[in-house]
Amino acid sequence: MSSPVNDNDDGKGVRKVAVLGGTFNPIHYGHLRVAEEVREALDLDRVIFIPAYQPPHKEDGELIEPASRLEMIRMAISDNPAFEVSDVEIRRGGRSYTIDTVKELKGLGLEPTIITGCDQFNAISTWRSYEELFMLADFAVVPRPGSPVRGIAEVMPVELAEKFWYDKKNNTYLNPSGHRVTYLRTVFLEISSTDIRRRIRGGMSVKYLLPHEVERYIIGKGLYR
Ligand code: ATP
Ligand code: MG
Repeated sequence: MSSPVNDNDDGKGVRKVAVLGGTFNPIHYGHLRVAEEVREALDLDRVIFIPAYQPPHKEDGELIEPASRLEMIRMAISDNPAFEVSDVEIRRGGRSYTIDTVKELKGLGLEPTIITGCDQFNAISTWRSYEELFMLADFAVVPRPGSPVRGIAEVMPVELAEKFWYDKKNNTYLNPSGHRVTYLRTVFLEISSTDIRRRIRGGMSVKYLLPHEVERYIIGKGLYR
């Protein structure tokens, strides 16, 4: 599996990529299906999964070591040639901020579209340097059970929201930098890592919530018990 850090030239000059960041503790079919649908809807060649070393907001006592989360992503995406994993945030260490990752990817000549579930996007104004982020990257916002779909005017200060204009033809919000926020209608899968960890702790089945190899890995290593 190539990392974008080592894969600076894909030979086709294609530079637009989707990026799905998260803790992936563990990766599940919610992540995988959303990544596939965004890739298809926005006609992107690649999706890069980027596990956070440490999320910025939460002190997560249940967060297992990065190497295991990375390994599970590798297993989960191995059958999809359009999917890649990058360890940039793990190698950087410390709290993982999307702004740092975006700058790193752009430095490699990539143009990232950041995929975010509504639970995350609704809290975008708490992200580090979020205003700058809108000037550096595109966003693809996807619905998520349990979180309302909030428009840009509801999630950022009016002064910032006013800078976006609606492109009806493409159903997307553009800002002066040329970057956009696109709301997509992806499948509604009520799957979360929190629920998977809870089921494992309770000795319940997690079959069909995540790929079989990932389930086997978790059970084999006795993770999340
Ligand atoms: P946890 O319950 O530990 O927070 P999670 O299931 O939310 O885990 P994350 O790694 O936190 O998974 O999520 C990474 C990204 O994937 C976020 O943008 C999140 O909104 C999105 N995402 C995760 N699960 C889904 C889902 N079922 N549908 C849509 N988006 C999802
Ligand atoms: Mg989450």
